[in-house]
Amino acid sequence: MALMTAQEYIDSLRKLNTRVYMFGEKIDNWVDHPMIRPSINCVAMTYALAQDPQYADLMTVKSSLTGHTINRFTHLHQSTEDLMNKVKMQRLLGQKTASCFQRCVGMDAFNSVFSTTYEIDEKYGTHYHENFKKFLTFVQDNDLTVDGAMTDPKGDRSKAPSQQADPDMYVHVVERRPDGIVVCGAKCHQTGSINSHWHIFMPTISMGEADKDWAVSFACPTDAEGMYMIYGRQSCDTRKMEEDASIDVGNAKFGGQEALVVLDHVFIPNEYIFLNGEYEFAGMIVERFAGYHRQSYGGCKVGVGDTLIGAAALAAEYNGVEKASAVKDKLIEMTHLNETLFCCGIACSAQGFKTKAGNYQIDLLLANVCKQNVTRFPYEIVRLAEDIAGGLVVTMPSQTDFNSDTVVGRNGETIGEICNKFFAAREGVKTEDRQRIMRFIENLCLGAAAVGYRTESMHGAGSPQAQRIMIARQGNIQGKKQLAKDIAGIKD
Ligand code: SF4
Ligand code: FE
Repeated sequence: MALMTAQEYIDSLRKLNTRVYMFGEKIDNWVDHPMIRPSINCVAMTYALAQDPQYADLMTVKSSLTGHTINRFTHLHQSTEDLMNKVKMQRLLGQKTASCFQRCVGMDAFNSVFSTTYEIDEKYGTHYHENFKKFLTFVQDNDLTVDGAMTDPKGDRSKAPSQQADPDMYVHVVERRPDGIVVCGAKCHQTGSINSHWHIFMPTISMGEADKDWAVSFACPTDAEGMYMIYGRQSCDTRKMEEDASIDVGNAKFGGQEALVVLDHVFIPNEYIFLNGEYEFAGMIVERFAGYHRQSYGGCKVGVGDTLIGAAALAAEYNGVEKASAVKDKLIEMTHLNETLFCCGIACSAQGFKTKAGNYQIDLLLANVCKQNVTRFPYEIVRLAEDIAGGLVVTMPSQTDFNSDTVVGRNGETIGEICNKFFAAREGVKTEDRQRIMRFIENLCLGAAAVGYRTESMHGAGSPQAQRIMIARQGNIQGKKQLAKDIAGIKD
């Protein structure tokens, strides 16, 4: 099958029996739900740009499995150039949506499960790699969106999966049958889960022998029997349900999406199993997936950062202060921070290496440095954007007020006229445009999109401490000590 168009992708979601709950109710037509639809539009952009001749080179690629043209989001990276193109593609999508476009988690899962299953089979003679290749060929041929589901609820963090009071705190096998396994548990804050056709489940931590039943990885359709999602709230989300609030929303077209995904006795046929008890490989999947997703942030967050820098520059221009040296300097600082993140994304890609299975893995140390910076720089970029934009970002009346005919003034002025009079800025700038840019900034810094730009920068792809552990492991302090000893003339 050819690549899907954006519309075909949206229509394909309607054919699934995905079970979505929100505000305590089942949402039947979730595809058109005003709180969910912007996140669907975001994923649809990964399809739309692949159809656009201007971006086709970046967005599409020849499959290493079939030779067919596929969307890069379903690709196994074949070179360091592929790894760099991945980051550039993510920056582009961030620029076009100013949101989390969700499809990367699947791409990062494909690449980590592909290489890990090869190594499990090598050791145990299992057939996980063949299973996975068959599954990925199906994904590529049908241009599917797949959620890479990793983060378990984790319960008591001081205890291993097998020690938890409630075994469901980590996804686990509850029954082994000749034709497959039955699994229970959940995955938290799953990006794009509802908008995905399929899911790949992976363990979330390294495991020991006692955790065998928790060391499990598999694929299953999003509407599998026993699987359902509870939608995650975002700041200011119900603005999307208000009438005449398209400006107040800040980004009416696009948004991210996170959900709690529950597996309640879901049957997984053998052909979709990629890990089943080989506990010592759980850590390898986690480390590789986290590495790829930490690289990803050197692309997506940079693209979104581009839109925020642009918005701050517009806010300054509308206020008539764009030539002030202090404003210029703040924009330089924002650009410097943003491009530093991009440098990290490109660097860990350029230093990538070939795995035993043949696809390319990023440099783990540099990817972790990349994500560590992402836990900091977007916060500073947000601070500077709020600084430039001014307090109006959080004090401006609603769009309904700006449009109101209710008379308030002694001379018959309406609320709308009063708002438009007092919130006018530089001559020649429409007050509505100022309103739009303020709300856009609010959305990214404090509103629904802050999930993807701010807090996700902290916790997505692993919290800061997780990167520091990897940096400690990969940092080669012993080697560095030797360098110092050699030059200082210290002999052991
Ligand atoms: Fe992709 Fe970034 Fe969203 Fe992760 S946070 S899914 S890398 S856009
Ligand atoms: Fe993420």
